[in-house]
Amino acid sequence: MSCPLCQTQASNEIWRNNHFYVIDAKDPLFPCFLRVVSCRHIAEMSQLTTDERNELWEILNTIEVQLIEKLHPRKINLAQFGNMVPHLHWHIIARWEDDSHFPECPWGPKQRSMPNALFNKRKTQTEETFKHLATLLTEKFA
Ligand SMILES: [Zn+2]
Repeated sequence: MSCPLCQTQASNEIWRNNHFYVIDAKDPLFPCFLRVVSCRHIAEMSQLTTDERNELWEILNTIEVQLIEKLHPRKINLAQFGNMVPHLHWHIIARWEDDSHFPECPWGPKQRSMPNALFNKRKTQTEETFKHLATLLTEKFA
């Protein structure tokens, strides 16, 4: 029982229902980095029920659309690995051309430093967006 995603994530939690929860990764380099996590401890997409899988796609899509509309990033990155923590979760990262790693992936080599003021501005906008997102997810997925 040492799975970190089976533990309560209260301080980082943005939203949850009976199937999935969403957390702010609070990444030090990427101001808008969140995770969508299965409530059940399973490793693979194929272990979800069909209804759960469809709901997950709709949750990912809802988040992606909101981040594009509110934050105007250059790109949204979606990633699912589970090699380190084999509990099904998706990473969603908003990317800007001037972020620390662009155009590399967030796990690739660092390209530059993002000025603190710019990071903090985007973090503030991201936190506002997450509040709105929580309301929207509750409306759509209860
Ligand atoms: Zn787990």
